[in-house]
Amino acid sequence: MEANQTVCGRFAPSPSGRMHLGNLWSALLAWLAARSQGGRMVLRLEDLDPDRCTQAWCDQVMEDLEWLGLTWDNEPVYQSKRTEAYHAAFAALEGRGLIYPCYCTRAERLAASAPHRSDGAVVYDGRCRRLTPQEREELSQTRRPAWRVTVPEADVSFVDRIQGPFSQNLARECGDFILRRSDGVYAYQLAVVVDDAFMGVTQVVRGSDLLSSTPRQLWLQDQLSLPHPEYGHVPLLLSPDGRRLAKRDREQELGTLQSRYSAPELVGLLACWAGLIPEPAPVTPEELLPLFSWDKLPQADRTAPL
Ligand code: GLU
Repeated sequence: MEANQTVCGRFAPSPSGRMHLGNLWSALLAWLAARSQGGRMVLRLEDLDPDRCTQAWCDQVMEDLEWLGLTWDNEPVYQSKRTEAYHAAFAALEGRGLIYPCYCTRAERLAASAPHRSDGAVVYDGRCRRLTPQEREELSQTRRPAWRVTVPEADVSFVDRIQGPFSQNLARECGDFILRRSDGVYAYQLAVVVDDAFMGVTQVVRGSDLLSSTPRQLWLQDQLSLPHPEYGHVPLLLSPDGRRLAKRDREQELGTLQSRYSAPELVGLLACWAGLIPEPAPVTPEELLPLFSWDKLPQADRTAPL
């Protein structure tokens, strides 16, 4: 296969626990999408939240990717070491008057009778954007603010490689969103945009639970004059009772799966669910490269009958 250095995919796991089947599924498909085009693959450990992420989980994630046969280029990037870059992006947005402090507590946000977003979160009604300087001053005596970005009344549309056309009105369906938490930690939405650009990522393949985040990320890329990667959102794997897999589902966690399956067996199962092979059979990621095609991938979520 010819090396295509213009394509760069990425793994972006959150090292807050052991990877589960859904994480492996997204990782395998991201790897195949990039490598089947002769592209590069980079790894970013999304360890922004110091309360949930540890070096031990970072090491475990890397060990698990290697066990599965998924390789990456370059040194991994740790988000916990990228604060300066997030700070610079935040300052750039702040300099353009797009950022404001939000003093609302969680209860206050939930009480706001705003419509719910498609991902279940509430659309923030922007009340702290309208505070007078004096009100801000008063609130700042007793509360530490989170920081939100003002979004426009604009539709952001893109064509997803797997899910097809997707559009979202930022003000109505998303609302002003948090870029920095009140404890100073930068938010995923900002970090992901800064880092995808920094790492030269041209292709983002991830779970469709993040489809509704993509318009925010495309819009932030525009605000920061960063390029748009292409996006492919893979359907979610569900537990047999129809729920999204979570790190607490021990049955689907890699530690448990490893006692039942070899790496090629597990890859074979995932490849069959992805429509790349007709029946589950042991296979390595390398062997799947010639079989990968976007057109074969399913769009709909499916249960993982394990
Ligand atoms: N860290 C996120 C996760 O593990 C993925 C973020 C992304 O791919 O943009 O679910």
